[in-house]
Amino acid sequence: MPMNTALHDTRVRFAPSPTGYLHVGGARTALFSWLFARHTGGTFVLRIEDTDFERSSEEMVNGILDGLRWLGIDWDEGPFYQSQRLPLYTATVHKLLESGHAYHCFCTREELELRRATAAEAGKTPRYDGRCRTIEAAEATQRISQGETAAVRFMVPRDGVTAFDDAVFGRMEFANAELEDFVLLRSDGIPTYHLSVVADDLDMRMTHIIRGADHLSNTPKQVLQYQALGAPLPIFAHVPLILGPDKTRLSKRHGATSVMSYKDMGIVPEAFRNFLALLGWSPGELAKQADGPDRELFSTDELVRMFSLDGIAHSNAVFNNDKLAWYNTEYIRAYDPARLLPLIEEEWRQANYKPTRSRDEILATIPLLQQRARSLKDFSSTFLAYFGDKFEVDPAALQKFLSNPAVVDHLAELGQRYASLEVFDEPRTEQLLRDFAAEKGVKAGALINGARVLLTGQSVAPSLFTVMVCLGQQRVVHRLQAGKQAIAL
Ligand code: GLU
Repeated sequence: MPMNTALHDTRVRFAPSPTGYLHVGGARTALFSWLFARHTGGTFVLRIEDTDFERSSEEMVNGILDGLRWLGIDWDEGPFYQSQRLPLYTATVHKLLESGHAYHCFCTREELELRRATAAEAGKTPRYDGRCRTIEAAEATQRISQGETAAVRFMVPRDGVTAFDDAVFGRMEFANAELEDFVLLRSDGIPTYHLSVVADDLDMRMTHIIRGADHLSNTPKQVLQYQALGAPLPIFAHVPLILGPDKTRLSKRHGATSVMSYKDMGIVPEAFRNFLALLGWSPGELAKQADGPDRELFSTDELVRMFSLDGIAHSNAVFNNDKLAWYNTEYIRAYDPARLLPLIEEEWRQANYKPTRSRDEILATIPLLQQRARSLKDFSSTFLAYFGDKFEVDPAALQKFLSNPAVVDHLAELGQRYASLEVFDEPRTEQLLRDFAAEKGVKAGALINGARVLLTGQSVAPSLFTVMVCLGQQRVVHRLQAGKQAIAL
């Protein structure tokens, strides 16, 4: 029976194995667990499952912590490291040995491999045959004291079923005959995942286990241990998988899978968090709007308020890059400039770029660009002309609007006129340009397009006269006059 827990006593954990960076699936599991903890006012625990010493590394742990921090996921307890908790696992194994639910297995790796190969050849599912079950405890102790090494296996009942109620998948039943006597403790004293996860979830008093559906088939092995230890079951909630657009499990083949590579692509964390939250979870009725499609943009506070295990989808979610790009533009657009600035500054740091304009000027410029940004990357590439004097001119824009030398000459002269403009505001800069075009008998549009390229390096930009005021008189004069050199470069 599941525990009867008051909701505010909930304890959930994220338990990554540091054998790789924080990937999208892991981040989504972490986010759901975190949202659930915050929604219920419970506790979110971080536990690093690093008992695979060969594949785990500190670098990966740091990568995971960085990824969580970037997503704004904080933890109340931990990080706990399983590698520092080995005595707990040995103690748990002893309990299982004493109560007759586990036994020592002296089969060597070679023997096991040979039997596995023979079974596979005969077309049978390779499964441990339980031959060491019959070794008496006293004999096992004696053999170990004489220097033999042994693993400890769980004694799975031969018949019957192991069942649990999953908060997402409902009643799950597994025939015990299909489960082999799995290893709890390896002969080198290192616990397997099956043992350490149960020992820790019990010791850390977890009430809910939220994790990927790839762990569903591991769950009966864990349920059997809870039962053997006389412990109540936590509530399991298995979250369906994340698939790539071709409906196969999301993997490197589909592009980036590490969370931090999305940061490197210029995705803002709130956008990624909102996108992830709706990857396999839906607020249901709460997202319905009377006058349009369901809402998809939710602040973190809203997500926390609305999150429930009931909203977790039963079918796999598809990772849609276009959707993520949409979230990113929406979030960048909606940010208060002062909140967006640190993210832009981080982007500049990564790109080794130093703006020369003042903070106030930059803050005044951001609203002009937010509407057009697709990612933070734009602020370290196409938008550089707004933040300093070093920027590249898009060759296609040059070709399109400045291939006529007469236009370039006109723009240089226009620059001179701007130098003596007394009040440099939008109406006056515009009037001056239009009067100048009439005087020269050229189209104002041709000058506007050319000036845009010289001032911003791009063929598209916010309204030219807004851009002029934002850049300031001196810069405008200089860039228009320097057109020839810019083109020659
Ligand atoms: N260390 C396991 C993993 O990363 C944790 C599974 C669990 O949450 O029980 O997949």
